Parts: sequence; C-alpha cells; structure tokens
Amino acid sequence: MTDLNQAAFQKHMGVTVEQMEIDTLVVGAGQAGVAMSEHLSKLGVPHLVLERNRIAEAWRTGRWDSLVANGPAWHDRFPGLEFEGLDPDAFAPKEQVAAYFEAYAKKFDAPIRTGVEVKSVVRNSDRPGFTIETSEGVIQARRVVSATGPFQRPVIPPIAPKDDRLMQIHSAQYRNPEQMPEGAVLVVGAGSSGVQIADELMRAGRKVYLSVGPHDRPPRAYRNRDFCWWLGVLGEWDAEAARPGKEHVTIAVSGARGGKTVDFRELAQEGMTLVGLTKSFNDGVVTFQADLAENLARGDENYLSLLDAADAYIARNGLDLPEEPEARKTFPEPECVANPILDLDLAEAGVTSIIWATGYSVDFSWLQVNAFDANGKPKHQRGVSSEPGVYFLGLPWLSRRGSTFIWGVWHDAKHIADHIATQRKYLAYRDAAQRQAED
Ligand SMILES: Cc1cc2nc3c(=O)[nH]c(=O)nc-3n(C[C@H](O)[C@H](O)[C@H](O)COP(=O)(O)OP(=O)(O)OC[C@H]3O[C@@H](n4cnc5c(N)ncnc54)[C@H](O)[C@@H]3O)c2cc1C
Repeated sequence: MTDLNQAAFQKHMGVTVEQMEIDTLVVGAGQAGVAMSEHLSKLGVPHLVLERNRIAEAWRTGRWDSLVANGPAWHDRFPGLEFEGLDPDAFAPKEQVAAYFEAYAKKFDAPIRTGVEVKSVVRNSDRPGFTIETSEGVIQARRVVSATGPFQRPVIPPIAPKDDRLMQIHSAQYRNPEQMPEGAVLVVGAGSSGVQIADELMRAGRKVYLSVGPHDRPPRAYRNRDFCWWLGVLGEWDAEAARPGKEHVTIAVSGARGGKTVDFRELAQEGMTLVGLTKSFNDGVVTFQADLAENLARGDENYLSLLDAADAYIARNGLDLPEEPEARKTFPEPECVANPILDLDLAEAGVTSIIWATGYSVDFSWLQVNAFDANGKPKHQRGVSSEPGVYFLGLPWLSRRGSTFIWGVWHDAKHIADHIATQRKYLAYRDAAQRQAED
C-alpha cells in the first residue's frame, strides 16, 4: 500500500479489511474507480475502493512504452483537474496519465486500498448486501460497483497458427520494437493499437504487414479543431449505441508523433504493406480476405462524412474557422491496394512475428450475482444492473460512446453515484410511527 492509500484508508476506515462492513465497495482503481470514488465522496456515501495492483495500473504496465493518450490533454481528463505542465493541445504520455489519476485521487483523499484483489462477490441470503472475499479477508457491503475495466483479457482469435518459428504476442504484451525478433512483422488489427504499433515498427526499420478490417477513421484535426472536439459538438460521443452494422467497427486514431490523421494509403506510401482481414493460416501460409479496398473505402467515407458534418456545423453556427481544402486530398492508390495480397508465405516474406491487436474481453467470474444474460453479458441500464445493489462502470457503450473514455466514465460514475445516494435516501425514510418511536 502506498503512503497515500495507507493514510486515506486509515483515516476513512480505521479498520482493516478483515473486519470491514462498508456501504459501497468499488472494485478497481483505474479512471473508473477514481471517478466513482469522487462522486460517492461528494454525496457522502461511505465507501472503499479495492485495487489489486496500483492506481491506474493499466496505464502503467498494460500499454506499450511510447503510448500517449489518443485525445489532447484539454479533453482526455476529468473536469476538476488539468494535466500539470502539459500544453492543453498535447497528448499526455501514459506515465503522465497514471500520475494524473494518482494526483486526482489524492486531491479528494480517495479511500483507495491497493494490492487487494476481490476474489468473489456473493449476495447474502440471510441479510441485506453482499459478502466479498478478498485477498486480505472478507468484507460485507450493501452495494458493489464493478470498475474493473473494459479491456481485461487480451483476445487472440482461434485462427492463430501453432507454429514455433513465429513469435506471437497480443498488443497488450507489446512494449517496443527491440522486443521483437529480427525480421518482418504481421500486425493483425488496425484499430488505434494496431495502427500505432505498426507505425512504430515501420519507423524502427521493420518490414510491416498490417491486416486492416472495417474501421472508422476520423481526421486527427480539421479546421483547427481536434476530432475530440468535433465528436463532442456533433453529438457523436453521446451516441447511445453503435449504428446498426457498425458494432464491430474499430476506430483508428493516434496521438503519436504530435498527433497525425491515420491515413492507410500514406502508411503504404511510406513502406507498409496493407492486407485485408486475416482469414486463416495453413502450412505457413496466411490467407487474407479480399476486402482491403472496401475497408479503406468505408474508412474514407467515415472520414469525409465527418468533414462534411464539420463544415455544416461551422456554417450553421457562423464560426470563424479557417477552411482546409487539402484535408480532402487523397494519396494515390498504393500497389498493395490495387493488387492485394491474398496469400502470404510467412517464411518467404521473412515474417518472424505476429502481433494480435485484436482487442479484449471482460472477466466477471468473481462477480457471482444475477446481473448477466445467458451469454454472460452484463445486464444493466446505464450501469445499474439487474441485481439490485450491483453496478457496472467503464464498459463499452455503458451509456454512450464516451463510456470507456476518460472524460466519459466520469459522467457515468456521477449517474451511478446519484442512483446509490437516492436508494440510500429511500432506505433512510421513516414513516410517522417510526419517527415517533425514535423521538
Ligand atoms: C491501448 C489503449 C489506449 C487507450 N487510450 C485512451 C486514451 O487515450 N483516452 C481515453 O480516454 N481512453 C483510452 N483508452 C480506453 C480507456 O481509457 C482505458 O482502457 C482505461 O484504462 C479504462 O479505465 P477503467 O478504469 O475503466 O479500467 P482499467 O484502467 O482497466 O482499471 C481497472 C482496474 O481494476 C483492477 N481490477 C480488476 N479486477 C480486479 C479485482 N478482482 N480486484 C481488484 N482490482 C481489480 C485492475 O487492476 C485495474 O487497475 C485506451 C485503451 C487502450 C487499451
């Protein structure tokens, strides 16, 4: 436990985990847990946050070395604190993001206890609330908020070949180019992680094949406004669900190298070989779908639709922002798009490693309550689950597109804290007879 957490824990609790009863237990102290704690504190709800590692651990050890935030510092933060010593338009390096959340927690003396894992949560049958087993003892809580993150278990699809000659890692394990064996690299997945990793490897002199699926590709900035601003004013962050057919569409953006628009044709011009969706592996040969041109065209459509919507917004609101016609220029069609590779013999191409930038799943095996559907998906409305007293925070599309992002989770946490405080008020109500008896 850090000094900060030790002090906060003792001040707020005065007891150890082994003998604790608490109103609300928050599991996880990433940005979601910290936001939750702030709102509960403001509403006077007694609570404790348990974190198995350190505050904002995902930003410390769960990301590659050079990662910076995808959004500028003015945007990717909580309302109550700015990034110290950082230009508001700059992209915070991951260590600074972790330090930010630690400082934020300190600001309001968050009752966070680190180094304690929650092993199981079970509803009590003989009294209200839940019994929570932790690595340091048992807790009783009336309510439990799961803030364990949207990206917990790295997912590698079953098509991954069993081939000892290849080093294969998930993007969660990627750190830097030096970690990779000599030779060409196949990066599967071209969302924000895949495209940034592929770009870094190419700039380090590696031959890179990037497998590109369906994606959205907003401009990094347009007419002097970052795409985070555009998504905000155009209501896109607040969208309540992915548009039909777009459920599995990833978003390719990057704050790397000062923040540049992800342009796959430009990357190809610089030497990257683009391929379509990865289909299968057979005897050292990988097969790709013939969908590269279509995926790029859809990405372009998304890019151009944002420019159109931005232009319309500027006109409608009479804003004085400089025109940017060059944003509509496209790079010439690269050879790898015109004549796509559909089969690649990995050994012949010198590919010695594969990075699977194929996303994450969640793991709620510790939460043994009636808050999941038949497929194990959390059942909830804006984070308020179907099991009274259990809440989810930080999940993709919990209330809207912004729910997994730094600023978005803060607003979802506020809603959940309000719900908890309201329930507590109902419970505190006393009818006339009770009031008289208490007087
Ligand atoms: C590569 C990458 C880059 C991203 N970049 C940005 C960005 O630039 N801007 C942005 O807004 N968002 C970004 N995100 C999305 C999101 O902000 C992060 O994923 C963020 O870490 C999510 O915060 P969280 O608090 O919900 O979850 P996490 O940060 O994952 O925190 C959950 C915490 O719960 C703890 N925990 C889990 N299970 C238990 C348990 N049983 N007991 C105790 N503790 C437990 C974990 O140790 C962890 O610390 C990025 C995501 C990825 C993968």
